[in-house]
Amino acid sequence: MSAPNYLREAPRRYRLEGARCKGCGAIHFPPKAICDRCGGRDLESEGLSGEGELVAYTIIRHPPKGFEDQAPYVIGIVQLKEGVRILSQIVDCDPTELREGMRLKVAIRRIKNDGGFIEYGYKFRPA
Ligand SMILES: [Zn+2]
Repeated sequence: MSAPNYLREAPRRYRLEGARCKGCGAIHFPPKAICDRCGGRDLESEGLSGEGELVAYTIIRHPPKGFEDQAPYVIGIVQLKEGVRILSQIVDCDPTELREGMRLKVAIRRIKNDGGFIEYGYKFRPA
């Protein structure tokens, strides 16, 4: 199955969903109940593009428990088109080829394998 089909059919919680403040228009991720820009309490769910660029990154060689089988891996700050910054794992890339400003796209991947229970969530990969 192609990635776009998979994303379209994935449950809602696997999508990148933020919250838009109806008062000032600020977009928050993860979603908030109260806008930290204007203090407004009227926010609505907003689907995010999942497209952005790499702001900064670091390579993790000594991961916390539960992530050992994934090391070394890359953690980066991604700035989405919407202006929101997200801390995320960067996958499908050679760490030596990463550079600030490169274009990235969201990917739904296994996050953690904890005693047979596998969690899925968002990561980013080169666009
Ligand atoms: Zn606001």
